Amino acid sequence: MGGRVVVVGSANVDVVVEVPHHPRGGETVLGGDVRRTPGGKGANQAVAAARGGGAETTFVGALGRDEAAELLLSSLERAAVRTDLVDRVAAPTGTALITVTPDGRNAIAVAPGANSHVRVDAARSARLAAADVVLLQLEIPVDAVRSAAAAKRPGALVVLNAAPSRRLPADVWSQIDILVVNETEAADLVAGLPGPTTPATAPADPSALAAALLGRVPAVVVTVGDEGSLVAERGKRLLTIPAHPVRAVDTTGAGDAYCGVLAAALSRGGSLDAAARLANAAAALAVTSPGAQDAIPTAEEVEALAA
Ligand code: ADP
Repeated sequence: MGGRVVVVGSANVDVVVEVPHHPRGGETVLGGDVRRTPGGKGANQAVAAARGGGAETTFVGALGRDEAAELLLSSLERAAVRTDLVDRVAAPTGTALITVTPDGRNAIAVAPGANSHVRVDAARSARLAAADVVLLQLEIPVDAVRSAAAAKRPGALVVLNAAPSRRLPADVWSQIDILVVNETEAADLVAGLPGPTTPATAPADPSALAAALLGRVPAVVVTVGDEGSLVAERGKRLLTIPAHPVRAVDTTGAGDAYCGVLAAALSRGGSLDAAARLANAAAALAVTSPGAQDAIPTAEEVEALAA
């Protein structure tokens, strides 16, 4: 049986076009047919925790009263994510405009819409207090992130995926048990840290970035795309987990598959190292098919690859 994960975060409809190359400023690029698929970091991570990680998962978020909201609700429910604490608000459901190139890389612009209205009230705080892992990202207001982290019970873990990059207030830093970032986000955070590290001297390699971030949080995972991920915990040796060799078709949501499965494994009381190995397998499988939530593998598939 899985533990309990509550994800507080964004839900977006992803509007995706495959293009030969990403458009530069002022350029128009002709692409393939448009696809509308369920996405958003929060909803992706909730689907990953439930389907890919087998955890009992609640998603706390906000959707509009439109067709995109129905697409998202049905994707969450298909993955057995609880949606009773999803708000319906008078703003359009969040929308991400995504271009994907033949090597599977993407470029994304997000209109947050309803995600700007995500809130943590008493009912949501109560569900958060029953979680083993509270999983958060930065596509929603920082106030909601802060309140969600504050609602956890003692002994539960707060996992923050600090994406997309933005400055974090000191009181939010102090609430984080495990930080998960990709290389770019790690560099952005290190550059923004007060102290001797400045943008000009910020360390560039992922292990130096992880070491710098350990000054702020007890544990850090840095994901490094097709090179895998690094796990750094205070007082322990740095662990490098190589990526599984796969053919990448669409890397959208790879980091989300990683975070969701990591949180699910942690919710069952597993070590961070063991959780990261499962997460690494889930993310590798996720890049082999198109879409974000649509590409998330089952827990059985994840365990088979990680074994
Ligand atoms: P993000 O999607 O947040 O930018 P990354 O690109 O670092 O994050 O990818 C997250 C994880 O997805 C990696 O740590 C790795 O486990 C997996 N991954 C990403 N790209 C590939 C790839 N080409 N092959 C295998 N695994 C991949």
